[in-house]
Amino acid sequence: MTGEVVIQGVPMSELAERFGTPFYVYDGDSLRGQYQDLRERLHPAMEMFYSLKANPNVAVCALLGSLGARAEVSSMVELRTALAAGVAPGDIIFLGPGKSRAELEACLAEGIFALVCESFGELAMIDELARERGGIAPVMLRINPSFAIKGSGLTMGGKPRQFGIDEQQLFDEADLVKNHPGVRVLGVHAYMGTRILDPEVIAENARRIIDLAERLAERLDFVLEAVDVGGGLGVGYFTGEPDLDPAAVCGLLNPVVEAFHAAHPGARLLLELGRYLAAPCGTYVTRVRYVKTSMQERFAVTDGGTNHHMAAVGIGSFVKRNFPMRLLNRAGTDPGPWNVTGPLCTPNDTVGRNVELPELQPGDLVGVLRSGAYGPSASPVLFLSHGHPAEVLVDGGQARLVRRRDTVEDLLRTQILG
Ligand SMILES: *Cc1c(COP(=O)(O)O)cnc(C)c1O
Repeated sequence: MTGEVVIQGVPMSELAERFGTPFYVYDGDSLRGQYQDLRERLHPAMEMFYSLKANPNVAVCALLGSLGARAEVSSMVELRTALAAGVAPGDIIFLGPGKSRAELEACLAEGIFALVCESFGELAMIDELARERGGIAPVMLRINPSFAIKGSGLTMGGKPRQFGIDEQQLFDEADLVKNHPGVRVLGVHAYMGTRILDPEVIAENARRIIDLAERLAERLDFVLEAVDVGGGLGVGYFTGEPDLDPAAVCGLLNPVVEAFHAAHPGARLLLELGRYLAAPCGTYVTRVRYVKTSMQERFAVTDGGTNHHMAAVGIGSFVKRNFPMRLLNRAGTDPGPWNVTGPLCTPNDTVGRNVELPELQPGDLVGVLRSGAYGPSASPVLFLSHGHPAEVLVDGGQARLVRRRDTVEDLLRTQILG
């Protein structure tokens, strides 16, 4: 035994040899397990929508889609990705505060389940487009609730936001539905925050949004056919941050779902999951190029950095906290503190600060774990023109490239010289 990390029997060094570094690798078993463990416990009336924002790779989306995940998309390319991945149009919703006319038209043409409408102006535009097409547009109204919830990494309710329509403004528009004959209002959407790690908060969140949806349906006089309770379920990244227990989440959430289901048989109930599904399956793999010491601190300079993994700099905190990291190609000895940095010309390109790792040497592979969500697509991949990293999916014991790295030609092609 070399102590090398393997994914479904495939050693990391073999992946690095075959695909080059740096790259992201996704473990299909882990992705499947994360989905199914929640799916099996969750009340069947609660539908799981995968938020492509977390990881828009078409192969990741297709794997989740094959298990029954629906899709929540927010751009033309995400819409095309979900369709290419095999998600049925009737299981796709589209949201985002600044949808283009072309995006709205594509949603109507494809016949997706619902457009999540974020402003009165957008509602007027959807109404007009639908009537031009001679159809009716299915819409969920996104509410910016007057209340906020605690225990989230990012609070959404009770604040001025570009997302959704203020609760009070909606309640003040009793004739809203009547005034938009091209629109069928199916229900309500609200998204309260991200990185929620408290099951109580998740259940309370759902309960309050359902209550709000019922009150709004009554006030605006529409039949409640769908409620999207958002999501924002988190995963543990840092020391002392435990993962959500799906059994605990479902223990509190399922009674809320059951009550909704009993009161509105046939209505759809939606839960959006991005990070929760995608984060645990991914590892960002870099190779150490140089090791050096500066003022008594040790540095491992690797071939990949925050240009591919911005989240590793620190999420939602001013103090740098390290993602879980490890030496991948061998067990190693003599653990001690290392700064793991990338190739960028900025001191901020620090993936791990004082992270406990074995003695490193050039050629070693260092991995950032739990990196399947908000990786390259949420990073400045063009900074210093390194481009997008390769992405690899290991499934059924086989590794395959699911996105090739950008080449020099790729990066020069779209630029115009004089
Ligand atoms: C970002 C986002 C999600 C996904 O959030 P996660 O925390 O990754 O689950 C879901 N819904 C909306 C509206 C979002 O903006």
